[in-house]
Amino acid sequence: MNTEASGFLHQPTAQIHLTRLCNLQCQHCYSESGPGQRSQLPLTDLFKLYGILCDEGYTQVSFSGGEPLVYPYIEEAIDVAIDHGLKVNLITNGLLLKEDRMRRWQGKVDLVGVSIDGMRTRHDRMRGRKGVFDKVIAKLELIRQSGIPFGLAHCVTPDSLGELPDILTLAINSGASLLQLHPLNQVGSALGLLEPLSGDDLSRLYIIAKLMQLDCPSDFRIQLDLVPASEELRYSWPVSENNNSLSSIANPLVVREDGSMVPLNYSAGRSVQIAGCSKLWMSDIKHWKASGQVEFQATIAQTMHDVNCAGAPFIDWYDYFARASKGLGVERDLIPALGLD
Ligand code: SF4
Repeated sequence: MNTEASGFLHQPTAQIHLTRLCNLQCQHCYSESGPGQRSQLPLTDLFKLYGILCDEGYTQVSFSGGEPLVYPYIEEAIDVAIDHGLKVNLITNGLLLKEDRMRRWQGKVDLVGVSIDGMRTRHDRMRGRKGVFDKVIAKLELIRQSGIPFGLAHCVTPDSLGELPDILTLAINSGASLLQLHPLNQVGSALGLLEPLSGDDLSRLYIIAKLMQLDCPSDFRIQLDLVPASEELRYSWPVSENNNSLSSIANPLVVREDGSMVPLNYSAGRSVQIAGCSKLWMSDIKHWKASGQVEFQATIAQTMHDVNCAGAPFIDWYDYFARASKGLGVERDLIPALGLD
């Protein structure tokens, strides 16, 4: 197994939030999705988007939500993306996966990510419904039988750190090829409700992930959305010219269900917004590349400066970027008392 950071994606990817409607209402949902939400991307806009994505150099779409499987046009969304030559991933809570759907996706969907918030008690509590853990575990077997590659995505909280070895065992035993670990961010539904990871917790998470890799099959991948600051700060962002493709500047590109576009993080602020709504995609992208991206580059520089000043040894890059885009700095308690660097 190799442990890799997902802070920077190699494949130009558009993360498309098809809807905010969801069959669950989780405590930690950064998009505040739920059964009462109705906002969704019209299919005609989605088809228009595919053309733009291809022109701008994106090669992969990752469907998210809300729950992408409650999007009424999910099959058309997948088929037409493939017609455009785009690779298709999706992340789901798993509850609506069915055998016929999995059969239909064979040879089309590259990777299915299934969210797991912990073992039974924790998962059910975070998801706000008793019994969903057992239902999701049964669905994992359906995916395994279909042969479609899949992974588990875990949002790490201070409480779930101790369950990581069990979650890894669950992933390996269920036939997954990937475990994605993403630290909980203080955004959306989690804001003020759930404790974020402290600097010590982030250091522990990094070490646990490194140790877990020693115990895994060689073809199993752990993707940790956390990197050592020294490594991160060596990365230099390309200063792009007007004629550069959007994918060379904003990867991932996040397309929200209301048609707005932001770079890197669903929770990014208005200061870095690329487009406000689907009607203006073409002109907004052109304008953003010509002048709007200056603010984006300044936010990247500000993020690096904040991280440097805070002295935090491990960086959840996407979260820090979103904070900087809203004028918020890196929290001071990210400096661990453990003295790790
Ligand atoms: S975290 Fe996922 S499953 Fe939970 S409410 Fe949000 S979109 Fe739905």
